[in-house]
Amino acid sequence: MRDMLLLGMRRGLEEILDLFSDRRCLVCDAITGFGPIALCRGCARALLAERLAAALAPPAAAALDADLSGLAGVWAAANYASPVRELLLGFKHHGRFAALPILAALFCQRFRSLRPQYAPDIIVPVPRAFLRYLRRGTDLPACLARAAGDRFRIPVVRALRRPPAAAPQTRKTRARRLKLAPGAFRARRRRSIAGKTILLVDDVLTTGATAVAAARLLLGAGAARVGVLVLARGS
Ligand SMILES: [Zn+2]
Repeated sequence: MRDMLLLGMRRGLEEILDLFSDRRCLVCDAITGFGPIALCRGCARALLAERLAAALAPPAAAALDADLSGLAGVWAAANYASPVRELLLGFKHHGRFAALPILAALFCQRFRSLRPQYAPDIIVPVPRAFLRYLRRGTDLPACLARAAGDRFRIPVVRALRRPPAAAPQTRKTRARRLKLAPGAFRARRRRSIAGKTILLVDDVLTTGATAVAAARLLLGAGAARVGVLVLARGS
């Protein structure tokens, strides 16, 4: 009981001290001042500029290697450039969880502007590779899907899974590795997919191969339409 009381007092004291300590920008580490401000002015401005650049740029499809025929569209909330890149890496690799609300807001804004053109029945996140998820403990596509699902009241269905690899990557032949990546998905919950307009969600799009493999699988499992929305697209 006494221990609990002491712990409570210490927690309270830490919270009070925290209010008076300098906050640092999640991207450039500059001091942002007191209170819960996650970005400095410069980085906030850069984030806005990046969002506008992504909105004005030609459709993401034009820059991709993957064959997008059959997909309803491929859209991105921002370019994979500073400061989105730092926020994303900070969240995924360095446990900077304060970056998530910023990334989720960016994603939801793009989703909102997309809805008049493409209104999904369900949202499906691209699943992480199981071992990678265990190592990092973060699943950004699932977090983004949940944020948009909650905000716009659209069901999130984990309709894809990545079976754990049977053997370590190094032991596989090159041909088998190529066969497994990036299309190593399985469809599940087929009844919730059938006939649905689906928004597939991923964090970063580079070649587009992973997203296209996942989208094709959903279409093969009976989805009516599949469009892809990613947080950031690489060049
Ligand atoms: Zn900054």
